[in-house]
Amino acid sequence: MHPEVIIIGGGVIGTACAYFLAQRGVKVLVLERNHLGCGASGSTAAIISISGSGSTLEPLRPLSLESYRLFSDHEQNFDPALEIIRGGALYAAMDAQEAVAIRPFYDEIRQMGIDCRLLDGKEALDFEPLLAPQVTAAVFNPASFHVNPFRLGEAYLNAALRQGGRVAYGVKVQDIVVANDRVVKVVTNRGDYQGDWVVVAAGAHTPQLLSPLGLPIPIVPARGQVILTEACPRMTDRVLLFVDHLYARQTASGNFYLGSHTEFVGFDNRITLQKLTTFARAFTRAIPLLARVRALRFFAGFRPICEDNLPVIGPLPGCSKLVVASGHGRTGVRFSASTGKAVSELIVDGQTEQPMEAFSPRRFAENVAV
Ligand SMILES: Cc1cc2nc3c(=O)[nH]c(=O)nc-3n(C[C@H](O)[C@H](O)[C@H](O)COP(=O)(O)OP(=O)(O)OC[C@H]3O[C@@H](n4cnc5c(N)ncnc54)[C@H](O)[C@@H]3O)c2cc1C
Repeated sequence: MHPEVIIIGGGVIGTACAYFLAQRGVKVLVLERNHLGCGASGSTAAIISISGSGSTLEPLRPLSLESYRLFSDHEQNFDPALEIIRGGALYAAMDAQEAVAIRPFYDEIRQMGIDCRLLDGKEALDFEPLLAPQVTAAVFNPASFHVNPFRLGEAYLNAALRQGGRVAYGVKVQDIVVANDRVVKVVTNRGDYQGDWVVVAAGAHTPQLLSPLGLPIPIVPARGQVILTEACPRMTDRVLLFVDHLYARQTASGNFYLGSHTEFVGFDNRITLQKLTTFARAFTRAIPLLARVRALRFFAGFRPICEDNLPVIGPLPGCSKLVVASGHGRTGVRFSASTGKAVSELIVDGQTEQPMEAFSPRRFAENVAV
């Protein structure tokens, strides 16, 4: 008996698809070439918010609200527990220019129906004493939390395994053979696999699997470098956001996670002194106490970013049983639940509750000769 759905990729998107499909009684097999969370999902800050930093594109807004709600609705199914830290997010401006830059964040959150607060410098400092006294303004978004990303992937997958799903590690997909609107087989370094459906959730590697099928999906890797500090006594539950895509969060173990710019350098995972110096300056200016904290580890991950900054979710033109779920860029953890749910609906019901047209791979179809 072969699995009903083969999922390629054991990142947060592949495991979320496995989870929501298994909830609908579908048997899944996850094929991961390395180990769980070895891609972007193992480097992520894992911040889950309604609204990000003032740039949630219109088609993503309903999914943002839904995904946020889904985490709470499904929390009781997750084992291990996700180490959820619910402290909201404070977007802080350290000078007058930055105060202008954070304003769209406030407007966006309010448009999405969240009761956020705009604080002046004194209020911001009273609210979050970790900030430097020169803080000029801040926006507090209560609809934001962060999790342990390794636990999230494991929890999605464990729940799928409890429903009879399977996972195979060290299995690298080399080819997907398609004919007559069907996936004939998935060719790997460990032999061929067959399933009724295939979901491609290979993150930044997705184009390598789909290009041979004639679909040039414009997803590229975008490096994000991260500094992880030693564990400190508990200081804040809030995510602290700053302009230029910098953010700090204190993990459940007490380490500060400090990230991260977006760099388009291909799959080059080197850590550069230039970035680390920039980060160290920016973070110690905004959170002076960090100057006395030891850095423990530096690492980088590759966000799968699509050229139009929208994820790619839906059936491949020319093969309706091959579903793409990738290209979530800076917000794959945030949108993992709504993506997994939509993929399960596509496969089980043939339609989705949320409008997904904007994310369809069909938008690249004029270049396709499948
Ligand atoms: C520094 C940084 C900070 C971030 N912060 C946040 C945040 O705060 N909030 C948020 O929502 N998002 C954040 N993101 C983005 C988020 O992490 C990504 O969007 C998300 O992890 C992408 O998940 P994925 O499953 O699509 O890809 P990945 O996690 O990359 O998973 C893809 C998997 O596919 C496997 N694979 C690839 N090719 C094959 C093959 N041929 N055969 C078998 N397996 C294969 C890989 O080994 C990998 O495990 C951040 C990312 C980075 C790098």
